[in-house]
Amino acid sequence: ATMPPLLSAIANAGRHGVLVKSAVAMERLGEIDTTALDKTGTLTEGTPEVTAVRPLPDSDLDEDALLALAAAAEHQSEHPLARAVVAAARSRGLRIEPAADFTATPGQGVTATVDGRTVSVGRADDADSDATVVLVTRDGTPVGTLALTDRLRAGAPATTAALTALTGTAPVLLTGDNARAAARVADATGLTDVRAQLLPEDKVHAVRDLQRAGRKVLFVGDGVNDAPALAAAHSGVAMGRAGSDLALETADAVIVRDELATVPAVVRLSRAARRLVV
Ligand code: ADP
Ligand code: MG
Repeated sequence: ATMPPLLSAIANAGRHGVLVKSAVAMERLGEIDTTALDKTGTLTEGTPEVTAVRPLPDSDLDEDALLALAAAAEHQSEHPLARAVVAAARSRGLRIEPAADFTATPGQGVTATVDGRTVSVGRADDADSDATVVLVTRDGTPVGTLALTDRLRAGAPATTAALTALTGTAPVLLTGDNARAAARVADATGLTDVRAQLLPEDKVHAVRDLQRAGRKVLFVGDGVNDAPALAAAHSGVAMGRAGSDLALETADAVIVRDELATVPAVVRLSRAARRLVV
């Protein structure tokens, strides 16, 4: 028997390294006319590195003490920024104290008790920097900042160009990061509609606003913070290799081999299959 076109398309997508979860999901990929992309871990590789450690002058901490404190609070987090902070502390040979009462707030940061004091690491929204900047506080008092940068994925500019060609409009960039870090990635990928400092619910609102205006939105993301937007979109695609479990579960399709260029490829596969479905 010949396979129905949408099932062949799923098999084909699998050969490209994209796991499409159902025939309906395959079909919806071909219906999209607008794309919205997360930045960190989607257009960028998601393996940031700490590039600066800056204790505040009136804190009692030096660089190593600040980094060790942040790493202790981040130790239990799976967020790419957390992994980078812990890796930086380890590479300096610093001792990472055990932490208790760990909590993570998606799109915001983490808090934990270290040495009897409450330490948080998270958004520094007044950051005026090309880098991602996170603020470290101890018992509510700011003690320093860390700057982190992430490399653009090799396929990012070609992918945004292909999505623009497929939909007739350039993708929208939706990120929790600061405006200048977002602008740096937007410039490198030819995007002009950039929305920064978004909370997870703001990403949902951005997707819903586009859909209320009649658009069918494809959202591509990787983080726990992206899960609500993946669910709200007409079609949600998650980056699989470093993606959070929640994003992978929520998405309609998962990019298993981490190649961003497969996003436009599966949209084309779906469109071709839908032409064959009568
Ligand atoms: P994005 O939308 O760019 O993928 P997130 O929504 O995951 O990013 O995070 C948005 C911002 O929240 C980050 O740029 C950072 O400032 C802060 N943040 C989130 N999680 C953490 C964490 N574990 N440690 C430090 N900062 C964090
Ligand atoms: Mg992300």
